[in-house]
This record gives sequence, C-alpha cells and structure tokens, in this order.
Amino acid sequence: MLYTMKEKLGKWGFVNQNGEPICEFIYDEVRSFSEGLAAVRVNDKWGYINEDGAEICEIRYDAVGDFQSKLGVVEKEGKKCYLNMNGEEVAVTNFMNEEMVFEGCKSCAIGNHTITNLPGGYLYEDDFINVTIDPEVPIRGFIVIGINKHVSTTTQLTREERIQIEDITNKVKLALEHFGAKNILLFEDGFSEHYRRWVIPSDDWMFQFGRGKNLKQITMYAKKNMSDEQKKEILLFAEQIKVFLRSN
Ligand SMILES: [Zn+2]
Repeated sequence: MLYTMKEKLGKWGFVNQNGEPICEFIYDEVRSFSEGLAAVRVNDKWGYINEDGAEICEIRYDAVGDFQSKLGVVEKEGKKCYLNMNGEEVAVTNFMNEEMVFEGCKSCAIGNHTITNLPGGYLYEDDFINVTIDPEVPIRGFIVIGINKHVSTTTQLTREERIQIEDITNKVKLALEHFGAKNILLFEDGFSEHYRRWVIPSDDWMFQFGRGKNLKQITMYAKKNMSDEQKKEILLFAEQIKVFLRSN
C-alpha cells in the first residue's frame, strides 16, 4: 500500500491511494512509512503509527529513526534503544546476554564492525563477504554468510559476487563436514532489507520441528534451551571452523 503525507489546517497525517485518511490529522510532522510504520511528531516528541493509523507506542521520544529489519532506533533523555514492531523497547542481545549496540541495519553493523561483541568474532572476512556464527541464536555450526553491501537480494549483485558467495558457502560446508556435521541446510533471507545466507547442520533435536522445515521454531527453541555449557561448545566449534577456513 502506498500512503501519502497530507496536511490539513497546519497538521499532518496520511491518506491512502483513494485519498481517504488513514489517521487523524494531528501531527506536527510525519515521515514516510518504512516496514509498515511511520515516524510522527507531536510538539517536540516522536513516536510511530502503523498502517491502520494507530500509534504503536507513546509519542515520547526525542528522536527516532526509520524502521529497518523490524527495529527502530529511538532516543530518550540522551539514551538510545530499540523499539520492536509492537512498540516495545527492546535491547538486541547476543546469546551471551550482552547488549549489541548499533544503529540501523544490523547486517551492515556486522559488516563494518560497529558491533564489537559478536560471539566467536569473524570466522572469515574479505572486502565483500563476512562469515560469523549467528550472534543471537546458539546452535552449534549455525553460520551466517553476510555481505558487506546493503542489498536485499543476490540479483542485485554481479555474477562474480554471486560466485564468491557460492565459493565461501562451499568452504563453510566443507569445514562443517570436516568436523562431522551432516545434512547441512542452506537458508536464504529474502525477507529483510539486507541479504544473508544461513548454513546450518541439521541435528536430531531439530527433527521435532519437521526436518528443519521451520527455522523460526528451531531458533526460538535454541534461544530458550541452550545451556551455558552448550554455548561454550558452540564458541569452541566456531574457533575450529575459523582455523579451517583460514587454512583451506
Ligand atoms: Zn544493511
């Protein structure tokens, strides 16, 4: 849906394609929709409205950014935090329960080293690609192949760049197999703004979700159930993969 900003008697709101208002015209300033949410200002405070015109949070922030990858950066009394799509303040924490601080796109922040506490660090990296373990999901051998460019799909890349992604995917697969992983699955993230590829060895415990069919359920289960001991093992495993990738 396309919504257009519109002014009425000095106040702002939005209308849909048919020119019908989707919210009241009560805002001093509005910004365009991003991921279904638009920043709106009343006096000197900001918040967001959704496509139904409903405010998803109190209009109480000193500054807000546009939503990216389902998160919006907001600032209150000099402190920044993140808001989820439901308007709740969230911190993005890695699986070691440390807050990861960044602005805007998380994949870009990983690519340009803004995030400094990635569990396991960078397993491999060059000008174009970075390989890490998933910072939020504790699964042994769950590897993310990220690209440093902010593009949402590989069709925006050159043939050579796509070949580089395949080459590193193959190396990661060989590394995982070298350390005993079987049934390695590939997932492409085509939904967020920044393309990523996940490589994940399927393990017996995942079969309860139907042979790794539902990645969301698997990652939620892992976040909830992995012990500190298992997390340590995941980090050790990452170190082995790193050594393998750098020597092969
Ligand atoms: Zn990005």
